[in-house]
Amino acid sequence: MRDAELIIFDCDGVLVDSEPITNRLLAQCVSDAGWKIDAAYSVTHFKGRNLHEIHAEVEQQIGKPLPTLLEDYRRICYKVFESEGVPAIEGIHDLLDLLDEITQNAPLQAPHRCVATNAPMRKMKMTLSGSGLIERFAHRDDPARETLFSAYQIEKWKPEPDLFLHAASTMGHDPASCIVIEDSVSGVKAAKAAGMRAIALAALTPPDALQQAGADRIVESHAELVDELRSRM
Ligand SMILES: [Mg+2]
Repeated sequence: MRDAELIIFDCDGVLVDSEPITNRLLAQCVSDAGWKIDAAYSVTHFKGRNLHEIHAEVEQQIGKPLPTLLEDYRRICYKVFESEGVPAIEGIHDLLDLLDEITQNAPLQAPHRCVATNAPMRKMKMTLSGSGLIERFAHRDDPARETLFSAYQIEKWKPEPDLFLHAASTMGHDPASCIVIEDSVSGVKAAKAAGMRAIALAALTPPDALQQAGADRIVESHAELVDELRSRM
């Protein structure tokens, strides 16, 4: 990671522990609409995918249009994020602390960082703020510069490579010098399609699925990355 110029973090499942909440709520909305699924099904089949694609799949399964499904789902999510907050993923603060330390010691060699998510900007800002992480992604050279990227800004979603390429070019880096940290199959595929290295966090996704998607490295937790980086300092 130290030889990268830019580290692109996925948001849900990599920075914020939102997946258990959102998959529970999505399963609830889909079940209410008539297709009885649980949170585990949602994690396996829907996590990290474009919500519009999921919407179409649910409509096909139920056999009728569901014009308010996404709106209802988002409304419930925002309500729960506001009332309950969203925890940061375990170990992420330690990883960011270490990157800060590297930056202080060797500012010219240290990587920049940004966030790129399939989720809407509002959701990203809300969950990053709620978990105390948003200020940790301010651009270190110029706080006015953009470091948060949503697929909705360019209307292209992972597994397409466009979002990561957009983030890299806006931040001013070549794809080959970027490392992506992802927790989903679609995110790993997007990183590889963009010509970037992909580190996959195997928490809710089985390691072999991440491997098949092309992950260059699979870790069980952020602590593993912290240990490795420390050992090389
Ligand atoms: Mg994710």
